[in-house]
Amino acid sequence: MAVNVTVAASHHHVLSRGAAIVPLDFSTSESDRQLLASLDRFFARHLPPEEVRRRDAAHVPPYDLLPAMAELGLFAIAVPEAEGGLGLRWETVALVQERLGRGGYMAASIFNRVVGFGAMSLLTYGSDEQRRALLPKLMQGKLLISLALTEPGAGSDAAALVTRARRCPGGWRISGRKCWISDAAGSDYMITAARSDPESKGPKGISLFLVPPGSPGVAMTPLPKLGNNCMPSFDIGFDEVFVPEDAIIGTEGEGFRNLMSTLHYSRASMAATTMGCAQGAVDMALAHAKERRQFGRAIGGFQAIRFRLADMQMRVDQARLVVQHLAWLIGTGQDCRRQAAQAKVISTEALQFVARHGMQILASAGYAMESDMQRIFRDATLYSFGEGSNEIQRELIARELGL
Ligand SMILES: Cc1cc2nc3c(=O)[nH]c(=O)nc-3n(C[C@H](O)[C@H](O)[C@H](O)COP(=O)(O)OP(=O)(O)OC[C@H]3O[C@@H](n4cnc5c(N)ncnc54)[C@H](O)[C@@H]3O)c2cc1C
Repeated sequence: MAVNVTVAASHHHVLSRGAAIVPLDFSTSESDRQLLASLDRFFARHLPPEEVRRRDAAHVPPYDLLPAMAELGLFAIAVPEAEGGLGLRWETVALVQERLGRGGYMAASIFNRVVGFGAMSLLTYGSDEQRRALLPKLMQGKLLISLALTEPGAGSDAAALVTRARRCPGGWRISGRKCWISDAAGSDYMITAARSDPESKGPKGISLFLVPPGSPGVAMTPLPKLGNNCMPSFDIGFDEVFVPEDAIIGTEGEGFRNLMSTLHYSRASMAATTMGCAQGAVDMALAHAKERRQFGRAIGGFQAIRFRLADMQMRVDQARLVVQHLAWLIGTGQDCRRQAAQAKVISTEALQFVARHGMQILASAGYAMESDMQRIFRDATLYSFGEGSNEIQRELIARELGL
């Protein structure tokens, strides 16, 4: 595969490159097209629309699809060659994420968990030993890492967390409660944020621990919810859970800063996948507008429907440009805090916009539980507050503007 990104050796800036700045380039290469065609085949074989519907109705997570995704090399595309990965351009990663989002959000969300969160966390702040031990498994689709950050009293204000980690012989004991932790039971490790300095408040004094969900003292309760049925969420009690010394990932006491240093990856991931999902919703609404006839003509002939679809496609195309621009900023190692926040807001709100208007265009056909539009509509509700709410993103954007 064509790789025109020079990856810096330091794993702290794994995806920044050397001096040469590559111009923004929206063209897709032959290898990009081959990769996307292999994704089309993956969806046709493993996750056709009827299978997406079945899994959503039966709440079946896509963990069994990880080996097939790994076989395509998907989990290696964003990992630098020096670390055993394929080291593809971030623009290509974004194209893959867009395609996954379009095919059904469950494939996208599991990809984002493995690559946008798992691989990027290991690469950005994991130790050499942790990267050596875990990255190969992750690229083989044999490792899932979840994030246990949110607590009942610490949502948007995540640094208000009170889960404690107390030193004990040979390691640490963790006690506290987390909530809304996605894929926790199905993961191999939960990166668990806990206060390791009992005197500390706010972002200082927090450390991150790799905690296997089956550890004695961990109690999980699934949380029933509106959408994203294939991504189970859990309330988790930690009662004096023991982890060894080497379970710390990142720097002791600097866990919050470590987590923040990877946020642009997860925001970029969510932006690309929600944009792809939005394109899927537009395609569906467009097909319906051409097919459904009322008053002796296709409803796509009515200006009220035509203008809706024009507005919907414009929103998705805007999001795609922003996503690709962000991918270029990430790949060229430029500061992109503001653009990552913007992309997350623009894409998630584009998805909610097209899902709402898609429901209106499909009307009763969209309201039926067998419709894909109602699933997208329900799932989309999450993304404007998940992964840092859009209000918090706007605060960050305003701060970056100097306010
Ligand atoms: C399905 C699902 C999956 C999740 N998965 C995970 C996971 O895997 N791991 C994990 O750690 N967490 C997870 N979360 C938690 C998620 O990150 C939080 O829901 C999110 O951070 C918002 O926190 P909150 O729900 O407590 O809302 P709150 O923080 O209570 O916010 C409520 C409202 O107030 C607004 N608000 C808050 N502060 C401000 C402010 N300063 N300025 C303006 N507006 C503000 C918010 O934007 C929001 O609109 C998940 C949540 C859900 C629902």
